[in-house]
Amino acid sequence: MYPPMELHETHDGQDEIKETYRLRPMNCPHHHKVFASRLRSYRDLPLRLCEYGQVYRFEDSGALSGLLRVRGMCMNDAHIYCTADQVVDEFVKVMRLHLKVYDIIGLPRDRVTFRFSTWDPNDPKGKEKFVDDPEAWERTGQQVREAMDRVGLAYVEAPGEGAFYGPKIDVQIRTVTGREETASTCQIDFAVPKRLGLTYRGSDNGEHMPYVIHRAPLGTHERFVAFLVEFYGGAFPTWLAPVQARFLTVSDKLDDVARERVEILRQRFVRAELDDSSDTVSKKIRNAANAKIPNTLVIGDREVAEGTVTLRRFGSQAQRTMPFDRFVDAITASIAARSDDRIKALMDEFAPAAAPADSPTA
Ligand SMILES: [Zn+2]
Repeated sequence: MYPPMELHETHDGQDEIKETYRLRPMNCPHHHKVFASRLRSYRDLPLRLCEYGQVYRFEDSGALSGLLRVRGMCMNDAHIYCTADQVVDEFVKVMRLHLKVYDIIGLPRDRVTFRFSTWDPNDPKGKEKFVDDPEAWERTGQQVREAMDRVGLAYVEAPGEGAFYGPKIDVQIRTVTGREETASTCQIDFAVPKRLGLTYRGSDNGEHMPYVIHRAPLGTHERFVAFLVEFYGGAFPTWLAPVQARFLTVSDKLDDVARERVEILRQRFVRAELDDSSDTVSKKIRNAANAKIPNTLVIGDREVAEGTVTLRRFGSQAQRTMPFDRFVDAITASIAARSDDRIKALMDEFAPAAAPADSPTA
């Protein structure tokens, strides 16, 4: 944890702490406070509280590693408060959400494995590591198995790897070097709600303890970006690329025209920029290729006069001149469809029917 920041004030010569600010290391307790802030009924459940939560952990400097392990991180975190009867349904939905996210991002299913991490009743230190409630471990473990079976996902069991407060599924991603890393987790919590006195009123008018599912399908975003950078080798499809289109001009006299076009693309939510450095054209083209920018647009006098752009796709030597409007339509369609347009696909949109897609026309 980071140390608290204290706001001091002096009263009658006495130094007083007026306010204390803390950087939170996790979102859970805050969501639990929101849950506890009013009377809850069984009719409110399942209650799903979600947040793009920024958290801070003062990791040892030796433990920090690129984007994989950082000290400030963002999570698409949620806590699902539900009844015992709702746990399996909610867990199933969460696992399906994981699969949906991986499909969108283009991560092949064979890169992802699932680990069912639970307690280890035989561990001599088990009572310190895990809540001592064998019946609850057994029941929630069964719920995890049932949910995974319903989604049709295979998993390996890992006794002793559970969270303190309940069993979980760890989503393991295999990196290009074959190393396995935990990308995200989905956990059932049967213990913390009891400790914090979280309750809801049941249909029997009695007080009951909710179960909590902790879930963050992208884990920490920084770590997930690290996986993506590695998976794509930095050469993202257009829809994922940090810079989706870069303009460069053959003479700085044309930069104003290029800036107008950057603006047109930005108004269509395309991440576009102009390389207005003093480098030569060939150097600018090389720089764009080194940065693995998927679409590089060259503008010369002819392109200005004719309202065209000359497109070069990352990974291809070919270039093609086309009306700027058509480029705008093609790139926005590619982004909207989240298509995997690496190498040539966006250029293919403009291929003359008879000619091979890669044939240079300019
Ligand atoms: Zn949590």
